[in-house]
Amino acid sequence: MNTAAIVRSGATALVDRSALMIDPFGRAITYLRVSVTDRCDFRCTYCMAEHMTFLPKKDLLTLEELHRLCSAFIAKGVRKLRLTGGEPLVRKNIMFLVRELGREIEAGRLDELTLTTNGSQLAKHAAELAECGVRRINVSLDTLDPAKFHQITRWGDLGKVIEGIDAAQAAGIKVKINAVALKGFNDAEIPDLMRWAHGRDMDLTLIETMPMGEIEEDRTDHYMPLSDMRRKLEEQFTLSDIAYKTGGPARYLEVAETGGRLGLITPMTHNFCESCNRVRLTCTGTLYMCLGQNDAADLRTALRSSDDDAYLGQVIDEAIGRKPKGHDFIIDREHNRPAVARHMSVTGG
Ligand code: SAM
Ligand code: SF4
Repeated sequence: MNTAAIVRSGATALVDRSALMIDPFGRAITYLRVSVTDRCDFRCTYCMAEHMTFLPKKDLLTLEELHRLCSAFIAKGVRKLRLTGGEPLVRKNIMFLVRELGREIEAGRLDELTLTTNGSQLAKHAAELAECGVRRINVSLDTLDPAKFHQITRWGDLGKVIEGIDAAQAAGIKVKINAVALKGFNDAEIPDLMRWAHGRDMDLTLIETMPMGEIEEDRTDHYMPLSDMRRKLEEQFTLSDIAYKTGGPARYLEVAETGGRLGLITPMTHNFCESCNRVRLTCTGTLYMCLGQNDAADLRTALRSSDDDAYLGQVIDEAIGRKPKGHDFIIDREHNRPAVARHMSVTGG
């Protein structure tokens, strides 16, 4: 057996390297993001059109099937799993899947279970998420102004999201705030958002808008390169690059004045693909090997063709063998069509 030593929490375990997922560029795939639904109770203007056509319910995998797929990935070396969507907490009975995956953490087969949420339903679920082993979550929040929050999310209520954040922190869950930087919408507010987040012991990560899916407005109007944002912040704050990593694509800066961390996710201005360790599974069982490319593998057919996971494992291996080197996102006046037709809510960001 071709074995490799993996050190985990101080203990060294021998694992079968041939069972792990290593892509053609030598990147080990250890992170699975699962979009459990394409539906959402918000309609953020950069993410969705107001009147979206969602997938017919019959096309969705059941939560039991999603669990079986997640387990197959865990058996192949996935150590970190993130539930996302659409809005993961609007999927009916989602806590069943969270509880099942929590058992994988208890058994030492998974290091981390986390989720990205808009926070609208978090107050209801925070305590149970913590009980199931969720230690960290990302909450997306672009502004602290209630009227602007309603404008950008179309249907959202800021008060509910803040209640959700309060409940998560009270349950002992570490919260990170994600904000999409939008020129002319929240760029002037970012310093206040950062002071607020850091004051509550939360990291803030800024994201550039990515050209995914048809929306009603022109993305070039609000596209804000984070290199410009950084320069603006440096007029007020002392920012230093730090080596801190959370296993994602963010680069982190320490902010001397607040003592907090600022993450920058810059798919447009800085290519983060070299260290990509992740793949994305949708609620219909489609596996995307890259957020910014269209190639995908149908795992639903493989899953339903047999109760045994051998064939499924083979289809996963073939898909990982096609993971591309990187994405080709561009936003400018000549390229104002989406780079990929699917919305972020399909693959979960
Ligand atoms: N509904 C959840 C939420 O909003 O956190 C999870 C899914 S949402 C698609 C995941 C993240 O993608 C959010 O932080 C959202 O702001 C971000 N997002 C959505 N569309 C985007 C786009 N076109 N460009 C950049 N980020 C986007
Ligand atoms: Fe929903 Fe998240 Fe997209 Fe906003 S960003 S519409 S909350 S899926």
